[in-house]
Amino acid sequence: MNCKRVIVEISNYIDGELEVPVRQELEQHLEHCEECKMVVDQTRLTVEIFCDSKPVELPGDVKSRLHDTLRRKLTEAGK
Ligand SMILES: [Zn+2]
Repeated sequence: MNCKRVIVEISNYIDGELEVPVRQELEQHLEHCEECKMVVDQTRLTVEIFCDSKPVELPGDVKSRLHDTLRRKLTEAGK
């Protein structure tokens, strides 16, 4: 499990649609990767906000930080 895989699987993870072994690998990765943990936390927060059927715009700094992190992760993973 690497950062790119985490990003790819993130919505499945949050939706609870991952196979158990994959979820365990992902959770192990999160234990030692602060950036992916942050991305998961922020994404989960976003999903919860939308699932609550009260669409709330994320604060601009949170959104841009999340976006920057995702983009950096994908760029790094593609090297
Ligand atoms: Zn990571």
